[in-house]
Amino acid sequence: MQDFIDQATKNGVALLDTGKCQFCGADYRRGIYECMENYNNGLLFFDFGDIDNHLYRFLSVDAHALQHPEIHGRWSDHFHLTRLHLILERKQPWDYNKSPLLSDYLNRYKSNKPNEFLIVPKSLNRGNIRAKDLTKATTTEECAQLITKWADEVYQSWSSNHEVISRIADGFLENYYIETTEGRKTTKRK
Ligand SMILES: [Zn+2]
Repeated sequence: MQDFIDQATKNGVALLDTGKCQFCGADYRRGIYECMENYNNGLLFFDFGDIDNHLYRFLSVDAHALQHPEIHGRWSDHFHLTRLHLILERKQPWDYNKSPLLSDYLNRYKSNKPNEFLIVPKSLNRGNIRAKDLTKATTTEECAQLITKWADEVYQSWSSNHEVISRIADGFLENYYIETTEGRKTTKRK
């Protein structure tokens, strides 16, 4: 909880504790505080012991983060938007091993481009579906469809950055496949 408050302070953003969430517009009474407390509630349907369901966690984490960039470090936007691009546009299967690889790639990338800023869409203009809407779903399938739609809406709302992100995705994929191919060669030699 403290993390997002600290990050907002760092970003010079005042957090409001009444009414709707000031960033995504979810209909709460204690604003972003309630939005943060509840954002996992829509995922209760999923059995995360089943690896196929991990996708919905990645998509919802990315969608929520990109609806609330003011409470994250700015390079988080690069991470979440690139991951959405890789999953939604490039149809890359994703798993928990790939996220740290993407982080590593972005760490190298940002040391070459320390002044690159993404264009952040205005708050309340980052897709109409919110984490809170997931709780209206009555089946796992319905919830999965809603998450996919939510992620897509948020992704589209960041469209001014798609070109930059697409280039980052190219670099990541190239690097990823070189690393995995070299990894295989190493295994053969053993
Ligand atoms: Zn919110």
